[in-house]
Amino acid sequence: MKNILNILVSFFASLLTFFNVLDLPQDEDIEKSDEVVVNELLNTEESSIEDLEPEEVVAPSTSSSNWWEYPSDIQECTRDGNNLLVLVNKKYQLPSTYKPTDLVKASNSGIRKGENYYLRSIIIDDLRDLITDSKNDGIDLSIVSGYRSYNTQESTYNYWISYYNNCVSCTDKVSARAGHSQHQLGTTLDFSSNEIGDALGSQFGGTKASNWLVENAYKYGFVIGYPQGYESTTGYSYESWHYRYIGKSNALEQRSSGMILEMYLRSKN
Ligand SMILES: [Zn+2]
Repeated sequence: MKNILNILVSFFASLLTFFNVLDLPQDEDIEKSDEVVVNELLNTEESSIEDLEPEEVVAPSTSSSNWWEYPSDIQECTRDGNNLLVLVNKKYQLPSTYKPTDLVKASNSGIRKGENYYLRSIIIDDLRDLITDSKNDGIDLSIVSGYRSYNTQESTYNYWISYYNNCVSCTDKVSARAGHSQHQLGTTLDFSSNEIGDALGSQFGGTKASNWLVENAYKYGFVIGYPQGYESTTGYSYESWHYRYIGKSNALEQRSSGMILEMYLRSKN
């Protein structure tokens, strides 16, 4: 009996160790400029290819499970695109025809900059409250991306493919393929602030505005989509600027659950 207990204890201990290893944040992913990340990605690609045997370079991997890769069994989303809790990720894609029917200008929220972007009207009231309260705390937010159609996402993805000299793995770490983007929902937006000249990207991390959102966004129903240290779960590099609206009560439940958005949505789909 004692032997069986010992075996069980060591089994669960090794399980815990395994999951801890998976979830540990990686120092190398922290706080880098786009250029540094791009160079490192490209250098990594080059050096790893040089280290491989020729036949391994030629033969494409069919069973690889690198964190940025798409699974082979891609399926359609289990909830309608209009549903605030629909799971859209590398496995579950929106129909190419999905487009929200209640898109309005993001500037309806009172945001200083964002007149070129559209968001679902359902999120505007809470976004307006977020902007008003952040202004009262001395934060000057802007919106640098909102709704993106299936076709726009296709162009966006192709832009990154070209930017990375046709490196698909580099692109899949930072940009979703058409149908797989939360931006197609109309409930997802990219924030910036006056601190970094309203630029889009990693320089947003660590700004006062970014820190304010980390502390407060959930109170208004907004949740960070691709948090730091969870690349292996989300399939994307850390994006300090990318927030998705899921409603105030859901955001509160998500935060209390201790799960990141990806895991919370998986539990609902
Ligand atoms: Zn985004």
